[in-house]
Amino acid sequence: MQLSENQISSFKSWLKPQTSILITNHQNPDGDAVGSATALCGVLQKLGYQVQMLMPNDYAENLKWMTLADSVRFYDSDTFLAAAEIADSDIIIHLDYNSLKRSGAMEEALGSSPAKKIVIDHHQQPEDFADILVSDTSMSSTCEMVYHFLEALNWTEYLDKNLAEALYTGIATDTGNFRYSSTAAATHRVAAHLLALGVESQKVASRVYDSNTSSRFKLLGRALASMEVLAQYHAAIISLSEKDLQECGFNKGDTEGFVNYGLSLKGIELSAFVCPREDTLKMSFRSKTTFDVNTFARKHFDGGGHRNAAGGSSDLSLENTIKKIKEILPKYAEELKELADA
Ligand code: 5GP
Ligand code: MN
Repeated sequence: MQLSENQISSFKSWLKPQTSILITNHQNPDGDAVGSATALCGVLQKLGYQVQMLMPNDYAENLKWMTLADSVRFYDSDTFLAAAEIADSDIIIHLDYNSLKRSGAMEEALGSSPAKKIVIDHHQQPEDFADILVSDTSMSSTCEMVYHFLEALNWTEYLDKNLAEALYTGIATDTGNFRYSSTAAATHRVAAHLLALGVESQKVASRVYDSNTSSRFKLLGRALASMEVLAQYHAAIISLSEKDLQECGFNKGDTEGFVNYGLSLKGIELSAFVCPREDTLKMSFRSKTTFDVNTFARKHFDGGGHRNAAGGSSDLSLENTIKKIKEILPKYAEELKELADA
């Protein structure tokens, strides 16, 4: 991982006995965000620092088994205290996001906090708002990066089984269970060490994946029925309407991974998923090989992410958002065809 001696010594120089540290995540924290925050929080607490996790909003039920949940605050339900913590912390650690906008309603408070800031993240095109930017887009996950960070500080000895399971969760979920091309030899070496620390991989997988709810399956049925295959563009669009969410009894996290069904179709290089989220439409994009959905999402849907997995949003209606995707696709027809034929 790209981490310089300078970055390590700067970070160490910030740490004083009374230092208070706030670990923050992006909106709708996923396994990688919650896992990396939990593990780093646990290690820093063992070292004696006053550490708190702060997330913009709550995370999905299938991650609730992770330890240190009592050290997590949610900005949306505890805004007053959270804002005070952001203003008063000595150090703010930004995990699994590299643009303050991704922290949702916390953006302004984080931006104006006088705290020392460090970003540890693997997304593309990091913004320049922190004192230390640890950015490596080749990394499988922020959890893998946190492991390397702990290694560089000689702190891996503070990882216990629970903290190792948190890191393992983020690595497993962000690599699609060690499937995606970001899974390197080093990723497996880190996972091997975590297993040696006692991680029960079958139990972790079961807690994360064998947690389907009937509302999720109802929504999956509707999502699959909605799938439009645009064979000439090697693309698939899946969508859910507000009515679908209401009728199926949507719960947070229910639509996680739906976008992958489009990609698993033979001959498809680009999958898009569109679904209402609060007062906007949340969009997810996935690609199989070199089609760059980070650029696609950034350019057309005010989003970003990674080359093969990105997100964005749309303020148009569901119908017009799908129409917009279809109007954009011809621009990429040649590239998508070449990839499909390759
Ligand atoms: P998902 O589709 O699972 O929500 O997100 C896929 C990837 O893109 C994740 O790594 C996520 O952090 C990133 N991502 C999702 N939505 C956005 C967005 O609106 N802006 C940016 N910059 N990244 C996003
Ligand atoms: Mn991640």
